[in-house]
Amino acid sequence: MADSSEMAEQDPWEVIKAFQGLENPTERDVFDFDCAAVRISRPIFKRFGYHPRVPPRKYDHPELGPHEELSILREYQRVLHWHLKSLENEIRRKTDTLQRTCEHKWERDLSDRGHRSHYECRLCGAYR
Ligand SMILES: [Zn+2]
Repeated sequence: MADSSEMAEQDPWEVIKAFQGLENPTERDVFDFDCAAVRISRPIFKRFGYHPRVPPRKYDHPELGPHEELSILREYQRVLHWHLKSLENEIRRKTDTLQRTCEHKWERDLSDRGHRSHYECRLCGAYR
């Protein structure tokens, strides 16, 4: 098995071609194939404005013992959390932009039980 520094120098197209010739690919073969495909497609996706994808991970690693298994799962959780935060920030940014430029159509918020009346825009969801 090649270590990560050797893998980084390997031409991803060679990995793809080698994978194509395998009759019974192992888990490691599939993983290396996937990494090679990502290395080829990532710059192209980036050019078209795609967010980097989250790599697939296994949840079960009984061979590693509970401490290392949990450590791997927590690391994966941090990655997913970073992607989720990034998506939340983008949604907030686009919502702010929409609400600043919307020609609001205000409707009274009937669910509001306070003393003052509140209104919600039925186009953008802004609230006042
Ligand atoms: Zn609006």
